[in-house]
Amino acid sequence: MSLRWDDLVRRSLSGEGITREEGRAILTLSDDEVMPALQAAFEVRQARFGKRVKVCVLQNARSGLCPEDCHYCSQSSVSTATIDKYPLLSKEQLLDGAERAFKAGAKRYCMVTSGRGPTDEDIEHFCQAAREIRARYPVELCVSLGIMSEPQARRLKEAGVGWVNHNLNTSERFHPEICTTHTYQDRVDTVRNVRKAGLMTCSGGIIGMGETDEDILDLAFAVREQRMDSIPVNFLHPIKGTPFGGLEFLTPMKCLKVLCLFRFLNPTSEIRAAGGREVNLRALQPLALYPANSIFVEGYLTTPGQQAEEALRMIKDMGFEVEASDVATLPA
Ligand code: SF4
Repeated sequence: MSLRWDDLVRRSLSGEGITREEGRAILTLSDDEVMPALQAAFEVRQARFGKRVKVCVLQNARSGLCPEDCHYCSQSSVSTATIDKYPLLSKEQLLDGAERAFKAGAKRYCMVTSGRGPTDEDIEHFCQAAREIRARYPVELCVSLGIMSEPQARRLKEAGVGWVNHNLNTSERFHPEICTTHTYQDRVDTVRNVRKAGLMTCSGGIIGMGETDEDILDLAFAVREQRMDSIPVNFLHPIKGTPFGGLEFLTPMKCLKVLCLFRFLNPTSEIRAAGGREVNLRALQPLALYPANSIFVEGYLTTPGQQAEEALRMIKDMGFEVEASDVATLPA
């Protein structure tokens, strides 16, 4: 199928969207057609986000020892990967992480825990940390704590948390292939609880786990239908010792096509070129900034990533600009 990029841009921006057939055509573009796709995706990105890039920093607030069996994850019960394992970080350690994020130029600080979901005590711990972080640093606060109830989400909102991450991860059809200890519906329910509590939703997925293009389309249309505010698009970083440690499905060009697909379908949502950006996009990383408006710096939960200084240089070299923190809210 031949794609008319100007028409795709128009329909994306008008909210009409693109068809599944067009989405399929984007995923199967020849590599020669990727540059026009990126240019068109950039037009959509620019309408909402200009040339701004939102920089985010992750803090692994509890590492390893997880009872769940997510096959991509080095912290799962079925992983033998060598990683740091530690219980919930103290409030002071979470505050130190916020300072590190702020100094790295991040606009968003995301605290993440391993585990199926938070206890009420965990929620109280993050609420206390959130109040102090909000008083000290002008960063957007996000938490990723697993399966969560609406009352738990409400408490986080009252404490100043703005965003909750909980990825749909993949299609409903493929989900049993990547995890057997919770369901796709559990994930959808958590996203709904987060929204009902008045928090912003951050939810995307992981590409490169052996799913088909139809699964990628299911995911991309699902996050559109659920109007996710922020969409992390992760690319599998196969970690030795995990069930997916030997998978190698992605090419840098495929990653770019996937990012373009998500941008056309989600013209006003934040799209983050997230985990696995460095190892999968390799030399083509800067091109991800055309469809995506956000990246992580300073590494991921158990793997290193691009350091802030290098990422900020990449953004500047591409003619983009780092989205500034609201320094006006800095305490005197
Ligand atoms: S992704 Fe989260 S829930 Fe799944 S195994 Fe890893 S830490 Fe546990």
